[in-house]
Amino acid sequence: MENKIGLNIHSGRIDGDLKLLKRDLETIQQAGADVAEIPVHGVDAIVNGHLRKSRTQKVRNILRDFDLEYTVHAPDRLNLVDFEYPEIQRKVFAASIRFAAEIGAKILVYHQGRLKTNGQGVTEDEAREIEIDELTDLGHLAEQEGVTICVENIHSGLVHLVKMIKAVGEDSVKICSDFAHSYINACTLGYDFLRPIQMAKPFIRHVHVNDNFGKGKPESAPPYIEAMPMGIGDLHLPVGWGTIPYKEVFEAMTGYSGIYILELQERFVEDGPAMLKEALGDLRELIAQAQSEKKEA
Ligand SMILES: [Zn+2]
Repeated sequence: MENKIGLNIHSGRIDGDLKLLKRDLETIQQAGADVAEIPVHGVDAIVNGHLRKSRTQKVRNILRDFDLEYTVHAPDRLNLVDFEYPEIQRKVFAASIRFAAEIGAKILVYHQGRLKTNGQGVTEDEAREIEIDELTDLGHLAEQEGVTICVENIHSGLVHLVKMIKAVGEDSVKICSDFAHSYINACTLGYDFLRPIQMAKPFIRHVHVNDNFGKGKPESAPPYIEAMPMGIGDLHLPVGWGTIPYKEVFEAMTGYSGIYILELQERFVEDGPAMLKEALGDLRELIAQAQSEKKEA
């Protein structure tokens, strides 16, 4: 089974400029990707929780010119347990679902929430309850729109995320597994990296891959030019550059038929299609190798 392989459009790199969106899509297509992941915030499609219809149409017209499939990434800071501005979180989430449907994307990635209060003393447990409740409601909207919400692991392990997805219990709310995030967490907190992947596999509908050295935190890294020489943080390197045991990861993922998005740091996109082609080629090869070895075993 051949998995589709994609690259992400970097939100900060295009920064609302649709000419730059076009430019990066051209590069991605030239590099031979099957899929591009579009950041809804990177194309200025939402204002104060409202989807801009004509803007969305403009984006859709650009996307139509490329021979690519699309998935959508919600704003990185969208957070269903941010109680400073709770109302707007839901609105932006709903607008992101509608944006995905408008551009024909079936997957919407949402970073799992991180408790942020404005002093009302909401506990972690209460916040989880609320996030489960919100995701259930948003899951109903997603289902109507033909979209699957994929909750991405950042500041917890996959085991925790599985519990949440089970509690939501909707076909339209599943997991986006980011192996780079789980590797950093597993290394720094000292839990097993590969076992949770097996456990989460039935719930995984989307995957982010890139490489790092299992040091630091999945967020808030030092400036990249300082972090890169030290190998610290969520470096978003091409697969094979870091220490994530991807052969074992792809063996564990045998049977997964979804998309792999190679989420690279923007400097690798600047290197142009040749660099991206090589990174995609290495990834395809590694996946194929792991799967054929698994079959033979
Ligand atoms: Zn990711």
